[in-house]
Amino acid sequence: MHQSTLAGLSEALRSKQISSTELTEHFISRCKKHNEQLNCFITINEEQALAAAKDADNIIGTDSASRLTGIPIAHKDIFCTNGIKTSCGSKMLDNFIAPYDATVVEKINQAGLISLGKTNMDEFAMGSSNETSYYGAVKNPWHLDHVPGGSSGGSASAVAAMLCPAATGTDTGGSIRQPASMCGITGLKPTYGRVSRYGMIAYASSLDQGGPMTRSAEDAALLMNVLAGFDERDSTSSDQLVEDYTERLNNPIEGIKIGLPKQYFDDGLDSEVASVIEDSIKQLEKLGAICKEIELPNTHLSIPAYYVVAPAECSSNLSRFDGVRFGYRCEDPKDLSDLYCRSRAEGFGNEVKRRIMIGTYVLSAGYYDAYYLKAQKIRHLIRDDFQTAFNEVDIIAGPTATGPAFKLNEKINDPVSMYLSDIYTVSVNLAGIPAISIPAGFVSSLPIGLQLIGNYFKESQLLNVAHQFQLATDWHQRTPEAFA
Ligand code: GLN
Repeated sequence: MHQSTLAGLSEALRSKQISSTELTEHFISRCKKHNEQLNCFITINEEQALAAAKDADNIIGTDSASRLTGIPIAHKDIFCTNGIKTSCGSKMLDNFIAPYDATVVEKINQAGLISLGKTNMDEFAMGSSNETSYYGAVKNPWHLDHVPGGSSGGSASAVAAMLCPAATGTDTGGSIRQPASMCGITGLKPTYGRVSRYGMIAYASSLDQGGPMTRSAEDAALLMNVLAGFDERDSTSSDQLVEDYTERLNNPIEGIKIGLPKQYFDDGLDSEVASVIEDSIKQLEKLGAICKEIELPNTHLSIPAYYVVAPAECSSNLSRFDGVRFGYRCEDPKDLSDLYCRSRAEGFGNEVKRRIMIGTYVLSAGYYDAYYLKAQKIRHLIRDDFQTAFNEVDIIAGPTATGPAFKLNEKINDPVSMYLSDIYTVSVNLAGIPAISIPAGFVSSLPIGLQLIGNYFKESQLLNVAHQFQLATDWHQRTPEAFA
């Protein structure tokens, strides 16, 4: 039952083969059994989940039920959940009980899904390995001494280990796609503004975007039908009409043009990963796609630009954590300045402090033009590169990550090498376009993700290609043996 997709569980619930209460009990017991090993949950909401499941059982079969009523899900601990701890992976918010639900959470609740708990993550979503969490590193279910990827590593690990059938994640520079790739699941980062950021704790507001992490593209489409849409409480939310994301899943992809950026297949890519990606491109060609090489000439500037823009925005966003209004406050402050300084010094971890310092530096008067302004100009170039490419092709394909999941502690003391592992994901956020990572094979028994990038609001097309790929392959159905 835990191997099932959302689509499968929906059928089982509606035909009364199983009740939501049974399903929820089953997943809660798996969470409790495996969380010690994986550390993928910060909070498990057993009581609330069972109460919600009981309500769902009364509704299933009536007109008030949605297609997903009664199915359990987990939320990244960056989404505010009314009455439930929302830590963002930080000591700073270890005592924070959110007084309201994020729009994402509200929509999921309204659709009748059951929230099992809050998943572990890199502190304030800063990281690529889920090792910067105040609650300790998350483990990759395929290999417990490897990272699950970050920053939505708890969500990815939980879905891959089948502790929940789906989870929410957020992606500022790759945090949905990269852990999806490393854990062998499907992760979609929607177009900037497609999913509301209201109640999603801000890291870098012009890049942050929430989205689904699931076992299949079809499941991602089902969740996008719940998550997408305008929200007047988010000033950058898009009012573009929302499509039915499941409608086009079964369209043939014959004749679709796929661009392969030369810059994504150069020396920086592990050769075994390259051959997995090449095989999956051949598979897409078998399905009728027409592939050709394209150029994204400013790819090499994406990491430096991202690691100026993201810290700049984070330094501003995180200034609200001052020991006065939210979260952690130091003991016995001498005066106001001591309260600010010590609360922040004691409440934030090292990576967050590093980002705040970089961000404050690049925004300071003497350096603004040299760093921040320049990074913004590069951001335009990167966006233009994609637009030029989309004049020629419908979709861009390539790897999600430079290699399979690396070992715990391998990169944590080498921030530059950690940052470089984001090379294939950050430019998508800088441009604000959608992209999906889907399982495409294995290297050394660890999963590898294929990334498909689309133009603005082309989520439906991405999901269509991903679904057709998944009908022809079974990589997305592989599960880690230890959690069968
Ligand atoms: N690894 C990137 C960073 O550390 C992206 C994180 C994210 O998408 N939240 O900033």
